[in-house]
Amino acid sequence: MQYKNAEMDKNKKIALVAHDNKKQELIDWVNKNLQQLSQHKLFATGTTGALIESELNLPVHKLISGPLGGDQQIGAKITTGEIDVLVFFWDPFEPMPHDPDVKALLRIAAVWNIPIACNLTSADFLISSPLMEERYARSIPDYDQYLASRN
Ligand code: PGA
Repeated sequence: MQYKNAEMDKNKKIALVAHDNKKQELIDWVNKNLQQLSQHKLFATGTTGALIESELNLPVHKLISGPLGGDQQIGAKITTGEIDVLVFFWDPFEPMPHDPDVKALLRIAAVWNIPIACNLTSADFLISSPLMEERYARSIPDYDQYLASRN
């Protein structure tokens, strides 16, 4: 695969996803970082987003619920540069039926080289990074170049 740079803006597009037993943890984390997160554009799977909006009064662009395809909508947005950062509190104690969704979303986030936090400590480290407030050039797959190189 060939690679090229893609620019992340100062204001990031952040996806928030939490499995049921992790939702309160994510809501508490969002609440703790409300001021900073409100500077960015937030996306979430349906139920996670609805809870954040109702409990914290913070506007979130809600997708469909995760088990109904919301995880995959987020994955699709990662491929098109519409999501820069993923905070995904998946539940390691509840592997099924979430396993394929977890694997698919983490895989596509790795392919497109976006920052991911899957637990509270990683999310704390991520949100406190100075890069959250700066432009940043990340390396992404260059599929056009790849196709051209095959001819
Ligand atoms: P939900 O989806 O926010 O709609 O509950 C999360 C998930 O299970 O992936």
